[in-house]
This record gives sequence, structure tokens and C-alpha cells, in this order.
Amino acid sequence: MKTDEQARQLLKDFHLRVTPTRISLLVALLKSRRPMSLDSAAEACGWQAGDRATVFRNLQALAEAGVVRVVRSAGRREVYEISSGATKQVKHAHVVCTECGRVECVDGAEQSGKAASVEGWKVTGQEVTLWGLCPTCG
Ligand SMILES: [Zn+2]
Ligand SMILES: [Zn+2]
Repeated sequence: MKTDEQARQLLKDFHLRVTPTRISLLVALLKSRRPMSLDSAAEACGWQAGDRATVFRNLQALAEAGVVRVVRSAGRREVYEISSGATKQVKHAHVVCTECGRVECVDGAEQSGKAASVEGWKVTGQEVTLWGLCPTCG
């Protein structure tokens, strides 16, 4: 299946409105081998800095629907990737560079299916993040 057809199918599967913006975003994310920042997603779609708000709104909508997963980077930054629910893959961990904020997916370090229990809490999720220095910063 071509990437744009795959993007279109994902929007349909998640009962989302199919718009050119969403298709471009999903195509960029599907092609990327690591989570993308807001800026790199906008850049990959060929948009100008002025379109940032639109890109952000659309990423939020895709994340709320569960197609896109938001991954916390260093500081308060966030990056985006296609969710494991959308790709039918096992949820994986991430490694984050504490210096430049680069984020990469860690295959083989997938999370155990069972979340840790905390007394008095209803735990709804569990994220595994490895921190360190990337090859450029290390
Ligand atoms: Zn780095
Ligand atoms: Zn990932």
C-alpha cells in the first residue's frame, strides 16, 4: 500500500475526517524512522513557520483519536509518532538525549503488558523512557 493510501486508511479506521493536512502529517510520520518534533513535521510537509498552529492543532486531534502517540522529550518538549495502536505493533520504549532532546525508538525494549500497581491508584498506563547522551552529544 502506498503511504498516502495508508494515511487515508488510518484516518478512516479511527473515524477521523480526511483532510489534506492530516494526510500530509501522517505520511511524514509514517515515513519517519524516529518521533518527529512539531517543527520537523511541519517542515516535512513543506509548510512555513506561520502554519505551526495548524500543524499543532491537527497533531493534537490525531493524538486524541489515538492515531498519534505523544512522546515526552527533554524539558517540556514533545515529539510525535504513529501510535502502536495504529500500526498494530507492540508499544516500545524511547531513549531521550538530555542535552539536545533527540528522541529515538528502542525496539526490543518494549513494555511489559502488565502495568505496575500503586496502592490507592487506578493506573491507566505506563511509559518507559531511557535517558542519556546521543552519539552527537556524548
Ligand atoms: Zn544529543
Ligand atoms: Zn517510538
